[in-house]
Amino acid sequence: MRAENMNCSFCKDRSIYNNETKYKTVKYCKNHFIKNFEKKVDNTIKKNSLIKNNEKIVCATSGGKDSLTVLYLSKKYIEENKLNSSIEAIVIDEGIPGYRDKTIEDVKKFCKKYEIKLKIASFKKAYGKELEEILAKRKKNLSKLNKNNEKNYKENSENYNKKQGSPCTTCGILRRDLLNKSCVEKYDKMITGHNMDDEVQTALMNIFFGKTDLIARMGPVTGISEVQGFVQRVKPLHMCAEKEVTIYAFLKGFRNEFTECPNAKLSFRAFIRDEINSLGNSREIKQNINRSILEILPKLKKTSKEKSTSKQILKKCISCSSPSALEQCKSCTIAEEIRAL
Ligand code: SF4
Repeated sequence: MRAENMNCSFCKDRSIYNNETKYKTVKYCKNHFIKNFEKKVDNTIKKNSLIKNNEKIVCATSGGKDSLTVLYLSKKYIEENKLNSSIEAIVIDEGIPGYRDKTIEDVKKFCKKYEIKLKIASFKKAYGKELEEILAKRKKNLSKLNKNNEKNYKENSENYNKKQGSPCTTCGILRRDLLNKSCVEKYDKMITGHNMDDEVQTALMNIFFGKTDLIARMGPVTGISEVQGFVQRVKPLHMCAEKEVTIYAFLKGFRNEFTECPNAKLSFRAFIRDEINSLGNSREIKQNINRSILEILPKLKKTSKEKSTSKQILKKCISCSSPSALEQCKSCTIAEEIRAL
């Protein structure tokens, strides 16, 4: 019986990763895997003009494999292409005990090693409370509602749970807002570490909730057009599978252990992620979904842009003046709710 060839498809070294498609299998040794991964990210940046000359860039960093990888590769891209652009990092401290304190230390070490300026913005400073306290206060709000209206207990409870969702619903709104407000004045662009798996999950979540307009805002360059008051977000890893990013970060020594926010498993995103991963050929399915989104994206963006111009959908939040679809943006509504308790 012939032994299976374990060599890299490009050299005689032992392969560490196989890229299997319906038609062929390409095997990569450590060096060729790194080379191929970096080339893929480089091509994504170039093809979509994600990093241009003379830009002040900030990278939203969490200390996880994705954000450290994208921060490292974006800095490398700027240096290798001799761009007159700068890159700094920002991390949001939500105050999640046993998780964020550790990842902040990791980000600090990483930024020191690669000489990257780091800014830390916290929920405590911005909203007066850490996440745990915010969630507890919002729950208390529900109890108050119930006390005042015993008869409607069930209805109130259901509405509130629908409104608040998992911890990620509240945290995500506040995180996005704080990232934007901390960066919009100072930077031209924000890089995020969203990978292909994240993109596919987001697309499916938006389809589940019938939010086509939100799919239009997806892609390597987010949004349908530049909006004053929002820092432009770009995603250099959007063509990279999560597994590839994990291997790259591990091979480069960025991360040796897997850390995930303890609240992540409670989110709807985690449910979608697990469902997709449970499919036999999930890798190919993810690639197909991602490709389909990219194919329909230009049309969706065009339609969404026409709709938003004709209806003047974006207003200014009455509290913070940020662009908002509502009279008051969601984060100011939450901040007001927390202050009132
Ligand atoms: Fe916040 Fe959820 Fe992310 Fe944890 S996983 S940092 S709770 S959005």
